[in-house]
Amino acid sequence: MNHPTSLIAAHALRLDLALQLLQQAGAMLPDAEPYSEAWLQGILDALCDLSSKDALTGLVNRRSFEMALGREVDRVARSGEPALLLVLDIDHFKAINDNHGHLAGDQVIREVARAIGQAVRPMDTVARVGGEEFAIILPNCPTSVGVIVAERIRERVAALTVDVGEPAPLTTTISIGGAFAPQWVRSSSLLWTERADRQLYRAKAEGRNRACLESHIDSLVSAEEKGMLFAVTQQDSE
Ligand code: GH3
Ligand code: MG
Ligand code: MG
Repeated sequence: MNHPTSLIAAHALRLDLALQLLQQAGAMLPDAEPYSEAWLQGILDALCDLSSKDALTGLVNRRSFEMALGREVDRVARSGEPALLLVLDIDHFKAINDNHGHLAGDQVIREVARAIGQAVRPMDTVARVGGEEFAIILPNCPTSVGVIVAERIRERVAALTVDVGEPAPLTTTISIGGAFAPQWVRSSSLLWTERADRQLYRAKAEGRNRACLESHIDSLVSAEEKGMLFAVTQQDSE
């Protein structure tokens, strides 16, 4: 790029640490003239990726997911559209690490992440929120569709065969918990997550390799959430 003034300004930026971080993370540096506009944009994009994505799977990371969940809580309260939160946890994953090694475990996490991503819509946010734990926000997802999607994810993961360089490929299963956002009620990310987590515990307790979704959404709106609705209504009328 031939913009002398912006070139001078760009050269004045202290980018050493940013470049060092990107190199350490194995990120590809932009293939453009250093300090050009395109190059700086590439550096910014790479830094955004580094701070919002999980290094092992390329999925959204926990921090970024929590921000997306907060936005979805607001959107549901405004629009009244149904939204589903799924939390997913690989079954007996510790045994995979113990029996086949940590690298094989990493490979299973990567393949499970890919299978989950292939089973949902592009508008859904899929995140790795812990070691072998994932979460998905499915905006605009009615109850009947949510049940089908959760089952589709479970089946895809159960059908996976992961080649870890051993004579037989590895297989695995996943347990899924799900909760719908209480429509028209200003909930919180925490309350929504707790509901989905409760369903995940149920799926584990009932034998794993299954999806449990909260039913009777209206009757499960907690006193705390009703209080939040009341607080908002009061504020709005002031
Ligand atoms: P459950 O069916 O109850 O979920 O059993 P589990 O064995 O999957 O659950 P647990 O939480 O006991 O084990 C999770 C294991 O995941 C323990 C930890 O060492 C491993 N782990 C966490 N992060 C990573 C990672 O990034 N890579 C690998 N390979 N293992 C990880
Ligand atoms: Mg776990
Ligand atoms: Mg597990």
